[in-house]
Amino acid sequence: MTTVAHTFVDRRRRLAEALTGARLDALAVAHLPNVRYLTGFTGSNAVLLLAGRKATLYTDPRYTLQARQECDIPVRIIARGPLWSGVASEIGRRGWRSVGLEASHVSHQQWQSVAQALGRTVRLKDASGLVEKLRMVKDAGEIAAIRASVQLAAKAFGKAIRKARAGMTELALAAEIDHQMRLLGAEGPAFETIVAGGERSALPHARPTARQIAPNQILLVDMGASLNGYMSDMTRVVHLGPPTVEARRLYDAVLEAQLAAIAAVVPGVTVGDVDAAARGTLRKRRFDRLFTHSTGHGLGLEIHEGPRLGKLAQERLEPGMVVTIEPGAYQEGFGGVRIEDTVLVTPTGVEVLTPTSKEFLEIPL
Ligand code: ZN
Ligand code: ZN
Repeated sequence: MTTVAHTFVDRRRRLAEALTGARLDALAVAHLPNVRYLTGFTGSNAVLLLAGRKATLYTDPRYTLQARQECDIPVRIIARGPLWSGVASEIGRRGWRSVGLEASHVSHQQWQSVAQALGRTVRLKDASGLVEKLRMVKDAGEIAAIRASVQLAAKAFGKAIRKARAGMTELALAAEIDHQMRLLGAEGPAFETIVAGGERSALPHARPTARQIAPNQILLVDMGASLNGYMSDMTRVVHLGPPTVEARRLYDAVLEAQLAAIAAVVPGVTVGDVDAAARGTLRKRRFDRLFTHSTGHGLGLEIHEGPRLGKLAQERLEPGMVVTIEPGAYQEGFGGVRIEDTVLVTPTGVEVLTPTSKEFLEIPL
């Protein structure tokens, strides 16, 4: 029988193996998505101390009840002062020699305070990425959670885009998308929803503005939901009124690149090869220089996780990884197209989780 508690026990067991491999006696986890992954704790202040199969969660009095409800491990409440002081004194008591800290998520001041409290007997080592590496391959429960998040986002997109009209501001459409996501049960958007019309769509990370969506323009929407802590991410480009030849050409090239990259997804392939499939396809149409970012990224408890599908990256895809495939082409002064799906690497290939059509949708004026 698999229960939620078993899931966390299993994840901590795999982490314990990684600690042995990294020659660490213990690890203090501060990055909250990592804490959530290993314990189920969803609060905003915690440090998780792990040694072998033993784990203790440190948090503050605001979370006394919640931590005990959410976690199947001992909880220590630090009533006064920073959590790190409690963690450091526990490390000191245990006589460990080598303890990992996540340098990428611990402030310099926190690191120094732990180091000073422990003196020379304990070696602090940077253990950044150790938990993130485990998180790259999703278990069945996580895949189900991402699938639900992707479906929710797609549904919200469908409902909101029907309301898109010339004269509506980018902000109003973004608000409509966020509103629909919440109505469907999302905690909120996975990131700030992007709605960019006309030449603003050429900015890959445009923020929605008070500008009105105008007829005969490209409209780019990049959005995702957070549902039960799991993210989704999709980009669709629609056209207000019939697409122009120029917009159609850009769209078709990006779609072709996106399909080529999806077709390249198979266990064992390097992420660089998936990126190359997208980039090579755009090169044939001389649009590759307009493709200014990487082809995709992993997602899960965070919107951007490993692996990053960048140029020449050597990581290999494995079954259970969930990544986005999102090539784009951005023409300054005209507009940009990006098409993004969330896909699952399966034992035999790939499953596109995003159900939304990739036809170049025309919004009636
Ligand atoms: Zn996106
Ligand atoms: Zn993305």
